[in-house]
Amino acid sequence: MPTKIFTACLGTETNSFSPIPTGMDLFRRTMFVRGGAHGDKPNVFALPLIIWRERARALGWDVAEGLSAFAMPAGDTTRVAYEAMRDEILSDLRAAMPVDAVMINLHGAMIADGYPDAEGDLLAHIRALVGPGVLVAAELDLHCHLTELKVASVDAMVIFKEYPHIDVTDRAEELFRIVVDTLAGRVHPRMAMHDCRIIGIFPTTREPVRGFVDRMQALEGQDGILSVSLGHGFPWGDTPEVGMRVLVVADGDHAKAQALADRLGRELWDMRADLAPPFMGIEDAIGRVVGHNGEKPLVLADTADNPGIGAAGDSTFLLRRLIERKVGGVAIAPFWDPQATLSAFEAGIGARLALRIGGKLGPASGDPVDVQATVMGLVENAHQRFGKANPPMGNMAWLRIGNGDAEAIDIVVNDYRTQGFSPECFTAAGLDIARCRGLIVKSTQHFHAGFQPVADDILYVSAPGTGSMDMRSLPFTRVTRALWPRVADPHRG
Ligand SMILES: [Zn+2]
Repeated sequence: MPTKIFTACLGTETNSFSPIPTGMDLFRRTMFVRGGAHGDKPNVFALPLIIWRERARALGWDVAEGLSAFAMPAGDTTRVAYEAMRDEILSDLRAAMPVDAVMINLHGAMIADGYPDAEGDLLAHIRALVGPGVLVAAELDLHCHLTELKVASVDAMVIFKEYPHIDVTDRAEELFRIVVDTLAGRVHPRMAMHDCRIIGIFPTTREPVRGFVDRMQALEGQDGILSVSLGHGFPWGDTPEVGMRVLVVADGDHAKAQALADRLGRELWDMRADLAPPFMGIEDAIGRVVGHNGEKPLVLADTADNPGIGAAGDSTFLLRRLIERKVGGVAIAPFWDPQATLSAFEAGIGARLALRIGGKLGPASGDPVDVQATVMGLVENAHQRFGKANPPMGNMAWLRIGNGDAEAIDIVVNDYRTQGFSPECFTAAGLDIARCRGLIVKSTQHFHAGFQPVADDILYVSAPGTGSMDMRSLPFTRVTRALWPRVADPHRG
């Protein structure tokens, strides 16, 4: 009988402080695919499944594809949604058995009502169903909660190394090679992890994290080390095991995996103060825009209102201060406001109308802002580029407060909640970003590759909101371990 694998995907990145519930509808609108029918515009979280299918079939293996579901980050997943999707994957797996391996793509930071580690629960059910003799392998986003339950339930796990996540397919290839070698009896993966007791957000585009990622990669394939991963954790997940952990997969040697995980964990601890980029307050950031007269715009990342980490994408803290300080020549995108978008489409290009913008989802969005705006551009069903993917933006309207490129504040509102990945989140609506001195992008890090070529400089702004960068004041209720920087030395006592 040919080798047979079963594949599936389930995930979302739960922000416990988000006002938006995650139910079946959000999964259906993001990715909800049965039987591998991903189409010609696959979601980025479908890419590993497509690679595993192609590689397995090239080897003459059989592939059974279970449910593939992913939701745009938001608040806790509902219990009915999680249990329905878990049970569907388990029944798909049961129908496919016997299988030689299960390969599952997860995010790793899903929290569901009653399930603080939803994907850990899924993996434990998969293990219970297939038994100890079947290889279970998982790929995770680096913003995962790398829990004891997840690690205990699988044989091999590989986590994205790059933030922004430009290596989703590379890690899928890496996990597939480990599966091939394990099924052939050439390697015997043993995993160990180290709890760094650190929370935060750590782009891999800057030092010292960049060098650390390069060192992790250099260790792989040497001295029996199959894979080295860093789970950054997702700091807005209010779950007991939140935080950064190192994971090492070694060939047949748990002690070796543990020793390396501990060594790398100590390295990270020693670098802790420099791991996160510096964040700038709203007033300082706007001050930099006021004083800016470079060739290209300054790009300000409104990190706290990034829909990619579960925020609404309609917060007004920066917009309000721009208006109050009368700072023009600045554009904001994408601003999630379906009602303002609808009104702009109704009014048409050139119309001037009173609009109440943003601040609709709750206190984390700030208060709504009432403006007189001119409709400058309208585009239906827009998209923006993100690596090889082409994520949707929905209908977009370019609104202008004030007159003239230098004095106006431009806002691109849309009706599909998404972060800004590339300059198209402005230009698709017709806006010429070269005329702006400042661009405010609702994103934390995934905008970086797209905007760097058009930016004079990039500033990370720390505003209030769902994705607040003030790690000390996150209102955790379920976290039981001490974590830096909330306490100075969480490893003591
Ligand atoms: Zn991530």
